[in-house]
Amino acid sequence: MRPFKYTSTNSTSGAMNLLMKNPNAHFLAGGTNLIDLMKEDVERPDELIDLTRLDLTSISTITTGLNSGGVSIGAIGKNTDAANHPFVRENFPLLSKAILAGASEQIRNMATNGGNLLQRTRCSYFYDTALACNKRSPGTGCAAKEGINRMHAIFGWSEDCVAVYPSDMAIALSALNATVKVTQADGKVRTIPINDFHRLPGNHPEKDNNLNRGELIISIEIPKNDFAAHSAYVKVRDRNSYAFALVSVAAGLVLDGNRIVSAHIAIGGVAHKPWRALKAEALLKGQMATSANFEAAAEAEMADARPLSHNKFKVNLGKNTIVSALEIALRGTDIKA
Ligand code: SF4
Repeated sequence: MRPFKYTSTNSTSGAMNLLMKNPNAHFLAGGTNLIDLMKEDVERPDELIDLTRLDLTSISTITTGLNSGGVSIGAIGKNTDAANHPFVRENFPLLSKAILAGASEQIRNMATNGGNLLQRTRCSYFYDTALACNKRSPGTGCAAKEGINRMHAIFGWSEDCVAVYPSDMAIALSALNATVKVTQADGKVRTIPINDFHRLPGNHPEKDNNLNRGELIISIEIPKNDFAAHSAYVKVRDRNSYAFALVSVAAGLVLDGNRIVSAHIAIGGVAHKPWRALKAEALLKGQMATSANFEAAAEAEMADARPLSHNKFKVNLGKNTIVSALEIALRGTDIKA
């Protein structure tokens, strides 16, 4: 690993000041992805600004505004604490299940909520500095496009990058219509809907998200919803622990008897960002909650997939995982506070 300077602060303004002074500085929170990337020489900051002393760890009920009745989750809080918080488990079990499906217990104890959103792709070519990668070194090419791309995208990829975004937590946040609250260098605060937070690769795969330099995530807000009792997170992976999704699906059903008032579905492991299944959601709205309708909606959603040479299996897998998540959501959420 290259040498770097370590700095620490207990205020967001202090963190911003340090960041704006040094274009090669990087914020450090849990470090569970960044430190790996530094060891592999993919990330090369010459200064790490430790954020773990910032007072941004609380989890609280939102009592005013558009998200009233929802929850605010501090950016520097640990993934484990968010997943196990009684209010989250009771009202947002989809989020708890998604977080608990990610990584290992040890990593979840270190990883922060804001950092989870900012984790980078696990494309193996991105990690190998001997190989072409537009995300790591813009303009060098994409070794994965014609390489072993079994884990890669089937939606929204570009000629410049076919990587997928690895977070489980963000897939649930997408279905939950969360917003990301960020503070800017001048102290102003802006909110970004989660579904606009991450980007498709286009011509600039080096940019994973729409956060600008000098912006810091302070919290994630989730509005109240009516599908806590009927939600599911299904993650399909090569082994049962400590593996990234081949395909994952976060699903929530608002039901009136057996009729679907609204469906909320996001897919992971298939694109450069959480993939909101808008087509399936539209088809399910107002329909009866039957296996036939679930299958028709899943089929329609996956019809637009553009698989690569090694990941055609993800189209069927995606369809089956959507159906499975909807069936589980219909039966009832199996996580209790
Ligand atoms: Fe790099 Fe993206 Fe290609 Fe992977 S898919 S090698 S991250 S450009």
